[in-house]
Amino acid sequence: MQATLQPAAPAPVAAPPDPAKPNLVGLTRAELAEVVKELGEPAFRVKQLWHWIYHRGATDFAAMSNISKAVRARLAERYSLERPLAVHALKSVDGTRKWLLRFADGREAECVHIPEEDRGTVCISSQVGCILTCKFCHTGTQRLVRNLSAAEIVGQLMIARDAFGEWPSPAEDREITNVVMMGMGEPLYNYDNVAAALRVLMDQEGLAISRRKITLSTAGVVPMIRRCGEELGVNLAVSLHAVTDALRDEIVPINRKYPLAELLAACREYPGVNNARRITFEYVMLRDVNDSPAEARELVRLLRGIPAKVNLIPFNPWPGAPFETSTDEAIARFADLVHEGGLVGTVRTPRGRDIFAACGQLKSASERARKAKAGVAAVEPFPSPSS
Ligand code: SAH
Repeated sequence: MQATLQPAAPAPVAAPPDPAKPNLVGLTRAELAEVVKELGEPAFRVKQLWHWIYHRGATDFAAMSNISKAVRARLAERYSLERPLAVHALKSVDGTRKWLLRFADGREAECVHIPEEDRGTVCISSQVGCILTCKFCHTGTQRLVRNLSAAEIVGQLMIARDAFGEWPSPAEDREITNVVMMGMGEPLYNYDNVAAALRVLMDQEGLAISRRKITLSTAGVVPMIRRCGEELGVNLAVSLHAVTDALRDEIVPINRKYPLAELLAACREYPGVNNARRITFEYVMLRDVNDSPAEARELVRLLRGIPAKVNLIPFNPWPGAPFETSTDEAIARFADLVHEGGLVGTVRTPRGRDIFAACGQLKSASERARKAKAGVAAVEPFPSPSS
């Protein structure tokens, strides 16, 4: 695709955070209750603050018209209402948007919005960098820096809501209908913060994204899969990508710790899974690596008995990547065999490749710049934060 970068509408730029004033945006109900208690205010203030922060998207205490002036002044004296800083907003020729967000400590992560005919999906990051080192993933070449806090995870959705002016949370005709935890990082290695953030997102008096519209993607942190289903009840996607342990050990190294048999057993037992709520198995199409007809047949065999849908993802290239995308013919043949085997399957259309917003292409701009300086890899077109 021709890479024509179009800057999106200017992102709202927040003031640098004041460390003396803790931020209320992103807090869970329990944390807000602590704040209200500390202020010596009655418990009903929690509901009011929740409504203003998550239903109305307030960025100023002064807007909170059903809270007395005196209380608003005390809140403003001691607390702040900040989003992460949106350093860059890019828009792809296909309508996909990507935001580079900078957090209070200067660390960065990316978040993406993918518009489709009947829905709009926000793809959210859970960590800065990643520890998994999957060989085909650009994020995987960046070391893990740290987990994102619940507030930083929630903040990504709020930035997207700001960009579309979707406040108060609309009941219908939303630009943002779905959330996928498929950005940078492994969400099940940051479970507590991801769980707290998803509970905030799912709260119907606030951001109101139903659990049925949320999908968490994991490379296969087997011991956390059951909890995710039991406690959050969100849809599960599993990055499978290979049908033998030998190959999966190489390209998805977490397989050495949790091999295929254990992963698939956890999927069979995923709470709430049934034919109406299937597990998505993601399978990146790597030319001459994992895309043969025999592998398609083996995939069908492995997934027998699991309410599954297969999502074939044409490999999204990045500079220096040691793989090529499967040919269109190989992808079509693989998809046919998956269908013939009785599985529901789709081929994921690459979105936002021109702005490096497609699966596996997310990486913080500062990391790109660092590598470019060191001459490690060619740097793709991406404006530097200072431009
Ligand atoms: N750590 C989680 C979520 C992040 S990755 C996980 O592994 O599931 C989101 C999806 O994009 C995963 O299926 C991942 O394997 C896939 N992916 C990574 N790099 C890719 C690339 N270059 N091309 C296509 N898909 C890729």
